[in-house]
Amino acid sequence: MTSPPLANLNSASMGSPFWNRLTETMPRAQLDKLHLQRVQALAHYAYENTPFYRKKFDNAGLKPSDIRSLDDLKRKVPITDKSEIIELQQQRPPYGDTLALPMDFVAHHCETSGTTGLPLAIPYSTYDSVRYGESWVYGFWGLGIRPSDTLYFAFGWGNFAGFWSAYWGARRLGCRVISGGGLDTKGHIEAILRMKPTVLISTPTFALRIAAVAAEMGVDLSKSSIKFTYHAGEPGPTALPGMRDQIEKAWGAKAGELLGIAEVDAMAPGCPLGDGVHVNEMNLYSWSMDPTSQDEVPDGEIGENIVTGYGNTAQPLLNYRTHDLVRRRSSCACGRTWSKLEGSVLGRTDFMVTVRGTNVYQTAVENILNEVEGISMHYELVLTHEEGNDAMTVRFEPEASIDPASWQQLASNAGDRIHKALHVRLKVVPVAPKSLPRFELKTKRIIDQRPKELRRALDR
Ligand SMILES: [Zn+2]
Repeated sequence: MTSPPLANLNSASMGSPFWNRLTETMPRAQLDKLHLQRVQALAHYAYENTPFYRKKFDNAGLKPSDIRSLDDLKRKVPITDKSEIIELQQQRPPYGDTLALPMDFVAHHCETSGTTGLPLAIPYSTYDSVRYGESWVYGFWGLGIRPSDTLYFAFGWGNFAGFWSAYWGARRLGCRVISGGGLDTKGHIEAILRMKPTVLISTPTFALRIAAVAAEMGVDLSKSSIKFTYHAGEPGPTALPGMRDQIEKAWGAKAGELLGIAEVDAMAPGCPLGDGVHVNEMNLYSWSMDPTSQDEVPDGEIGENIVTGYGNTAQPLLNYRTHDLVRRRSSCACGRTWSKLEGSVLGRTDFMVTVRGTNVYQTAVENILNEVEGISMHYELVLTHEEGNDAMTVRFEPEASIDPASWQQLASNAGDRIHKALHVRLKVVPVAPKSLPRFELKTKRIIDQRPKELRRALDR
């Protein structure tokens, strides 16, 4: 008996490092030509179908036909911020004046998993979900995941778009899916041992949490069936190389990551080289902006990622602020021509605090903490405002094996390393192991205790 053909593939692509060589290696001029056509079509679509964009364009004295170049998009089309959409949704729930399709076409509803403020409601059409899933496939494929793999979702199927879209991607690629659903951590471990999936889908911190619980149970997951782990939802293996080492060692697997924004797309699948993510330029156009002047920032410099998505027909977004700080490169040794964001997200515009004149980014501090031996992955950064200045305190749990008599020494080592690397002294405080909260989805790292008026919309 011959085996049935793989639904989505021709056999020639199986050995390719690219899911779609044509799109992933398209020359820049050709990509930009396509972008312009898509941006123009999207501007017309959003203007004609949403009161939100009609008003926004009219207020700016702009017609969709005025966009004749990508520079026009950057300079003329007003920036859209999440807070505007949330406000409209509050006025007229669930989607306000931003919905571009009749409600009948909305096939799926998600919300941002916000920890502060109001949630953002996100509608998807069936078409949107297919395009969204495709972004995951680019990342899965680049890491080495193939249709013969089985994906285990350590995810409770709430309203978090990240792993619903990963599921859409798994269907597109043709993998087998096993849902961990509402199991507890121990239950996940037992399910993995019993059903032998080859890929773990989870947040990066939850992958480490599962591994830690397995170790307590006397189970060595590095000897399990898992060959790959794939992550989203919070800074992971690309942004934090120390975390990648921990995950890969604990699971005996190759770890990959994707940068997604729930209301936009699973927009930037990981580069196989592991040092950044590539913007899926079939699904969106993105550029870097100085968050203060709103001018374009050239490649190689840090700026805020601004995105225009072609895949969200239900709730279109043009020049949308991500509040993510990125460093963009136009080429990569892996051969992809899609914009590369080195180290994924380097920080958040909202999580940047200026401590005694120095800009301190969350990710920069996390990178250092990940490198200090004896500091566990359980830590939080507490923002306060003292005598007119922002301040950041690092609270961390030492590894359980560290003698409490050495905790203070560990804290001052970490403080010294932060000072050396970032030229700023932060307060570093050890707390007892297992005293900080644990999270299944996004780990809350930032505890913002500054007065309300000093905070901005923190959630993604
Ligand atoms: Zn690359």
